Amino acid sequence: MNGNMEELYDKDVHCPVCSEKFSTKKLRRSVVRVQSTDADFCVHYKSENPYFYSLWVCKKCGYTEFENRFENITKKNAEIIKKEIMPKWVSRDYGGRRDVAQAMQIYKLALYQAELLEKEFSHKAVLCLMIAWLYRYESDNASEIKFMKSALELYSKAYSAEEFPIGGMDSAKLSYLIGELNRRCGNLKESIKWFGKAIDDPNMKKSIHIKKKAREQWHLAAEEYKAIRPSE
Ligand SMILES: [Zn+2]
Repeated sequence: MNGNMEELYDKDVHCPVCSEKFSTKKLRRSVVRVQSTDADFCVHYKSENPYFYSLWVCKKCGYTEFENRFENITKKNAEIIKKEIMPKWVSRDYGGRRDVAQAMQIYKLALYQAELLEKEFSHKAVLCLMIAWLYRYESDNASEIKFMKSALELYSKAYSAEEFPIGGMDSAKLSYLIGELNRRCGNLKESIKWFGKAIDDPNMKKSIHIKKKAREQWHLAAEEYKAIRPSE
């Protein structure tokens, strides 16, 4: 049992908004161990959870963004963070080991800022989906569904408004995800429609695993639909 101290290491970050230098933890990829993956791509980990560390938070100004986008903020958006976030920010350091409660706070900060900066639908969608997953870890079903419904609405808008790949997904994979989110939110007719769309999508040829999963989930949604409409 020598793992804990070595799983995480410190990364020095320079904030592009306020120029503060701060330190944040990163998780070594080599120590990540997957337990299982849900049909909506939520991963359950045996090891420390990488989702907890994918957002960086400046302790001085509160600017919060995914690691891979952190440095790419525009001047205009940096000004908005300075004006709208920094004055209200009570200095908090998220640079240590994070638990699920802290991860939740950070994802909600990021969502608030994404709304403030009018980020694209897909960006807000992934934040809502990951908040829903954090609630799943906590077995808080009502909150999970609330955020999943927001994610679903945002991904549906992204599907028709944004260019693929969307959040790393092609049209087949996103159709599948929208199908699965509809199923989990109880919109079974919509779910069946989107799984059908996913299966028929020419991009599906590239993803044998997703195609198989789409067929399984399509059947599941159809069974669930039959169960609630026995007379039809
Ligand atoms: Zn800052």
